[in-house]
Amino acid sequence: MNKLSIAIDGPSGAGKSTISREIAKSFGFIYVDTGAMYRTVGLYVRRRGINPRDDVEVSRVLPDIHIDIKYENGVQRMLLNDEDVTDAIRAHEISAFASDVSAIPEVRSFLLGMQRRFAEIYNVIMDGRDIGTVVLPSATVKIFLTASPEDRAKRRYLELCGKGSDIAYEKVLEDINTRDINDSSRAVAPLKPADDALVVDTTGNTLAQSIELIKRLIEERIKDAL
Ligand code: C5P
Repeated sequence: MNKLSIAIDGPSGAGKSTISREIAKSFGFIYVDTGAMYRTVGLYVRRRGINPRDDVEVSRVLPDIHIDIKYENGVQRMLLNDEDVTDAIRAHEISAFASDVSAIPEVRSFLLGMQRRFAEIYNVIMDGRDIGTVVLPSATVKIFLTASPEDRAKRRYLELCGKGSDIAYEKVLEDINTRDINDSSRAVAPLKPADDALVVDTTGNTLAQSIELIKRLIEERIKDAL
């Protein structure tokens, strides 16, 4: 039987990962966070002291990067050359590295095969920027999740504060705006809704409201297959 796939795309901080994780749990799907893969490449590049915009240098080291994903109690853990980097890739400064390396076509094709393999083997809910447009163009359901930059920055800010960061809200908002521009304006796989995606704006919603809304939208579309 063909596997079911749910594509969740959208800008940073729209709540994609939290919502996807909850929905994966309730439908019994595997949650694949593709941003974590770009972050892992970004982390490697940073550790090697490579300019993340230098496409020649970054492409040259790709064969040295071995990424594995494992699941522990439903939580996706990222392994970079056998080291668990799940927490390290969440550092705020890695976001910009991930965004920069993600504009390099060789990096995107390096990760594409791995992303598609997951969807061949499992029922997946996969989140990212280009899942509905490039990675899984035939996804069963496509959702483009968005919210105002201020709403997204507020969420990210609270998340970072919760992890002990003393970053200023203004800096988080500025970084969100920069990443929006980078992610939407790049030549390959830019951030944009697929033509057949449902666009959902969660500005002003609580997380619980957004989860409920998305769950209902998905359920309506896959109920016959569940
Ligand atoms: O989702 P997250 O913020 O962890 O993603 C980090 C960066 O990886 C994004 O800013 C984006 O540039 C890139 N990315 C991407 N395509 C994806 C997922 C993430 O370009 N499918």
